[in-house]
Amino acid sequence: MHIVVCVKQVPDTKIIKINPKTNTLDRRSAPAILNPYDAHAVQEAVKIKKELGKGTISVLSMGPPQATAVIKKSIEIGADRGFLISDRAFAGADTLATSYALSKALGRISKEMPVDLIMCGKHAIDGDTGQVGPGIARRLDIPPVTNVIEVSELNESENKVLLKRKIMNGYELIQAQIPCLLTVEKDINSIEYAPMSNMIKAARYEPVIWSVNDLEDVDRTQLGLKGSPTIVGKMFTPPKPEGGKRLEGTPEEQVKQLMGLLSDKKELFLSQ
Ligand SMILES: Cc1cc2nc3c(=O)[nH]c(=O)nc-3n(C[C@H](O)[C@H](O)[C@H](O)COP(=O)(O)OP(=O)(O)OC[C@H]3O[C@@H](n4cnc5c(N)ncnc54)[C@H](O)[C@@H]3O)c2cc1C
Repeated sequence: MHIVVCVKQVPDTKIIKINPKTNTLDRRSAPAILNPYDAHAVQEAVKIKKELGKGTISVLSMGPPQATAVIKKSIEIGADRGFLISDRAFAGADTLATSYALSKALGRISKEMPVDLIMCGKHAIDGDTGQVGPGIARRLDIPPVTNVIEVSELNESENKVLLKRKIMNGYELIQAQIPCLLTVEKDINSIEYAPMSNMIKAARYEPVIWSVNDLEDVDRTQLGLKGSPTIVGKMFTPPKPEGGKRLEGTPEEQVKQLMGLLSDKKELFLSQ
């Protein structure tokens, strides 16, 4: 079983500050960390490998050279090896171009060792779109299963896996065909303390770094800013919601008051 986990380096949004003048993230105000959902994905891969008693866990990241830190962190959790794709050609990528570049790197990895399972976080805590995982699955033409909270009954000989995924009012059980791509929720597991041997391995580990020239059949027009049709129209901090208003009186009086309030605010609704 070869599992590849896609891991992203993100600023710690719990402490990051927003520049009130430009309304952009002040990236220097927070340290870069492994996206927390991706840490859970790596932990789940470790659990699967332990249960099967064999397997290889690779991690893959796209980012600047400093993103090797999240690969080392993944090795600490229990991954076996890591790949970073880093090149100016990837800069300015939106989710479409990111999933394209990652799918090309996955193609190279799977040429060396066929990939059975790809795992991603549910979303990245900075970009927060949740589009990259399903985007990769679409490009590789494998099924995506999102918001997974449990992986069980992984049958290697029949290439099947049973997945529990979170939905609005409960959960759903899905039997998926392997290879497939999962995006995981934090509830899937708890991150265990890393054993000393993993920490030593991580400290000494040198991830494989690939540039765009190391990937095959790449259409450069689909990479980076050139390959990114997304336009950021506006960035702003949402206004704090005003306190609610309690309606008083009989139900009829309350309906009258409500109609009056809605009518006062009609510009707000019509402008959206
Ligand atoms: C026009 C435009 C330009 C941009 N330019 C840049 C830029 O120059 N530099 C920059 O850092 N960002 C840039 N971004 C942001 C970038 O598009 C997103 O950070 C990236 O596509 C991931 O999207 P997301 O954060 O919503 O991830 P999500 O889709 O929420 O992530 C889901 C999961 O996908 C995987 N994943 C996501 N990104 C990566 C990654 N890079 N490596 C490995 N796995 C990953 C992880 O498993 C993650 O948990 C730009 C965005 C736009 C719209």
